[in-house]
Amino acid sequence: MNANRKVLLVHPEISRNKYNFAGVIDNEPLELEYISAMLKEQGYAPEIWDGQVETQKFADRLRQVKPFAVYVCGRTRQENFMKEYCAAAKAAGCITIVGGLHAQLNFKRFCTKNIDFVLTSFDIFHIGEILAGGEPAHSVCLRHDGKWIIKPAQPFDIARLPRPDRSYFYAHTDRYRYLELLPCAHVRSAYCCPYRCKFCCRNQMNCGSYSVRPIEDVVDEIAAIECENIYFIDDDFLFDRKRIERFIALIRQRGIRKKYVCYGRADFVAANPDLMRQLKDIGFYYVLTGLEAADGKRLKAYNKKTGPQTNAEAVRILNETGINMMGMFIVDLDFKRADFFSIYKWIRRHDLKHTAISIFTPEMSSPQFADYKRRLITTDPSQWDYLHVVAKPSNMSVKRYYFYYHILVVMLFLKGRRDGIYDFLDYGFYIRSMVKNLFRFGG
Ligand code: SF4
Repeated sequence: MNANRKVLLVHPEISRNKYNFAGVIDNEPLELEYISAMLKEQGYAPEIWDGQVETQKFADRLRQVKPFAVYVCGRTRQENFMKEYCAAAKAAGCITIVGGLHAQLNFKRFCTKNIDFVLTSFDIFHIGEILAGGEPAHSVCLRHDGKWIIKPAQPFDIARLPRPDRSYFYAHTDRYRYLELLPCAHVRSAYCCPYRCKFCCRNQMNCGSYSVRPIEDVVDEIAAIECENIYFIDDDFLFDRKRIERFIALIRQRGIRKKYVCYGRADFVAANPDLMRQLKDIGFYYVLTGLEAADGKRLKAYNKKTGPQTNAEAVRILNETGINMMGMFIVDLDFKRADFFSIYKWIRRHDLKHTAISIFTPEMSSPQFADYKRRLITTDPSQWDYLHVVAKPSNMSVKRYYFYYHILVVMLFLKGRRDGIYDFLDYGFYIRSMVKNLFRFGG
């Protein structure tokens, strides 16, 4: 047996500039905490390094810990950092493994010289198998005689996950947050999403198979978390009415008082106003809803299976109920000037207070990506953060597009300020950086 049992589990920083949401939304590295729990159970000595919150540089931690293996996860925008850390780990003689949302769907991008294994499913037990010298039977890319072998992915049953080891979260409760909810712990109750919106890659996760945990087990976990704020990171928590009813009943029975954040579709909210009132009653604070567009034509093209009326009804119900809807919109690359302003008008007309705007970004793993390939203006994965234009807009220059996008963002920010929703932020800092972006990117 290898005497060195140390494994470094790495989540890279989001970016190395200030153009991100650091300090406003910082996510608990839940995936690493599952892996940490599993490895401890198997007699390893895992350590987490999360670039979002660490003050010690990765290279220094690597030198200090001297692990025999390094696992790195991340999203598309973190790909460069993931590869950089694997290169450093390989130079230090470690086994290098990558996984996580981006690598699972875009594994070929990681079949490179400094990486030994690419995991293509949520099956964390494959890491244990690799560290013990074995070879997973599926859901992995690995090298045989210098050639990459791709063993196709299989869905993973989420009920097999252990309880996450939250010691890292508890050591950084001053950092992990969702807006004003600080600290905010993550809970996962499902993998994948049963819907098939065209722009989204979440429905491809877990081989497109929706896998849920027994809700009793989810409530047990929540009861044991030493944190008042819980963020369900399921792609769509509000899906099965019966399951949500059971959840509410269990939370009430056990007298659990916490605040909750979850993703939920507008059609579910609109169809279940009574349930939304009960969710408010047990502590639901934010529902993050992909409203996506202000017009039905675009919603249809996105295969969203909702319409502007349903969206408006969902906003009305949540406003009436007192749950904050975080309405998420996409500014499409075919936008004309008026389209940016029509999003603003829709938001005002329906009195939506919390909003998030993403620039349409063709997901690398989606069939849509091929349609945009010829229009790409960058191939740098760090730009796949929904804050950058990665493909040429159809109706204006990139500069003009950024200009209208930033105008919309500033208008919404000022509206938010008037509504008093971002009082926990340093307004001056954000206004200054938005104006700077306006001149930096467009005009
Ligand atoms: S946008 Fe939301 S509802 Fe649509 S597929 Fe993605 S996660 Fe599911």
